[in-house]
Amino acid sequence: MSLTDHLLERIAQDGPMTVADYMTECLLHPTYGYYTTRDPLGVQGDFVTAPEISQMFGELIGLSLAQSWMDQGHPDHFVLAELGPGRGTLMADILRATRGVRGFHDAAEIVLFEASPTLRDIQAETLKEFAPRWITTLTDLPDAPLFLVANEFFDALPIRQFLRDGPAWRERLIGAEDESLTFGLGAQADQVALTDRLQDTKDGDLVELCAAAIPILTVIAGRIASHGGAGLIVDYGDWHSLGDTFQALRGHERVDPLDSPGQADLTAHVDFEPLALAARAAGCAHSRLTPQGVFLERLGITARAQALAKPLGGAKLDMLVAAHRRLTHPEEMGNLFKLLGLYPSYAAPPPGLEP
Ligand code: SAH
Repeated sequence: MSLTDHLLERIAQDGPMTVADYMTECLLHPTYGYYTTRDPLGVQGDFVTAPEISQMFGELIGLSLAQSWMDQGHPDHFVLAELGPGRGTLMADILRATRGVRGFHDAAEIVLFEASPTLRDIQAETLKEFAPRWITTLTDLPDAPLFLVANEFFDALPIRQFLRDGPAWRERLIGAEDESLTFGLGAQADQVALTDRLQDTKDGDLVELCAAAIPILTVIAGRIASHGGAGLIVDYGDWHSLGDTFQALRGHERVDPLDSPGQADLTAHVDFEPLALAARAAGCAHSRLTPQGVFLERLGITARAQALAKPLGGAKLDMLVAAHRRLTHPEEMGNLFKLLGLYPSYAAPPPGLEP
C-alpha cells in the first residue's frame, strides 16, 4: 500500500479532507510520512535551510540568545530549546558559538521538540556531547527560564484554507476523482476564527489558518512571561496571510502538492500576526517583525564573514560570499524570511530586534 492508496481509502470512507489533515498525513504518517521516513535537508535532499547554508546563521542566533541570558541576570538554570531541529546543525552552531560565554553551557538544559524519529536519530548523533533531551508535548517544557529558537518549524505545521464567498467562507478540501487526488470546495459556512478577515478581504480571496501554531506559541510565551527567557521564531511569511501559499518542494523544485504525497516537503507561509497575538495574550512581549537580512546585519554578519574569509581562497571563498548573500540579500532569503522575537515585558528584546 502507498500513501496515495491510504489517502484515497480515507476519502472514500470519510469524504474530502482538509488541507491540514492532508499535510499531517503527508508529513507525519508513521509509515509513509515525509519527515518520519527521511532526512529531507541539504543538497541531496529537497530543500536547504539557513543553518545548512552557513554556520554564521546559528552563531549569530546563539549570540543573540546568550546576550539575552546575560541581560536577564544569567539565571543559573535555564532551558535552551529548539522546535523542529532538523539535523541539529543550528543547535550545534549555537553551542559552539557560545562556548566562551561564561556559565552559559553549565546553566543550559538542552531540550528538543521533534516529531520525526529519523531526524531525532540524526540530532542525537550531531549533539551527542551535549546530552539533549527530546519532548513530544510542549507542555513538558520544564518550568524554568526558556531561551528558544525555531527555524522553518512553523511553516511545516498544518494549515486550513478558506475561500471568501460573500459574507461567509468555503473551505478548500481534498477529494478524489478517478482514483486521483483533486482540490474542491466545501459548503458555504461561517468561520468564527475568520471574523476579522471579513474586513480586509473580498469575494474570491483565499486566507489560511494555522490552528496548530497557537497552543504551541501560548506555551512558549507563557514560560517566557513567567520565568524569563527569549524566543526567536524565524520563518518565511508575513504579518498577514492573503492568497494560496501551500506549496510542495521535491529535489529543490516546486511540484504539485497533490502529486506525490509523502515524497515532497509541504509548507505554507507563516502568518505572524496570530502568533504575536497569542504571545500577547499569554502576557509576553514581542518584537517588531524583522527581515532576516536586517537581523543578521545588525548582529554583524558581514564582519563575521570577513573574519571567516581571511584564510580562504578559490572555491571556498566563493562559497562563503554566496552564503552571506543568500542569507541576507533582499532578493534571496534576506527579505522573505522574518524574525519575531519573544521576551518578558520587563526585559529588552533579543539583540538584533526592536520592540
Ligand atoms: N530547523 C531545521 C529543520 C527545518 S525542517 C533547519 O532549519 O534546518 C522542519 C523541522 O520540523 C523538521 O525537523 C521536522 O521533522 C520538524 N517538524 C515538522 N512538523 C513537526 C511537528 N508537528 N512537531 C514537531 N516537529 C515537527
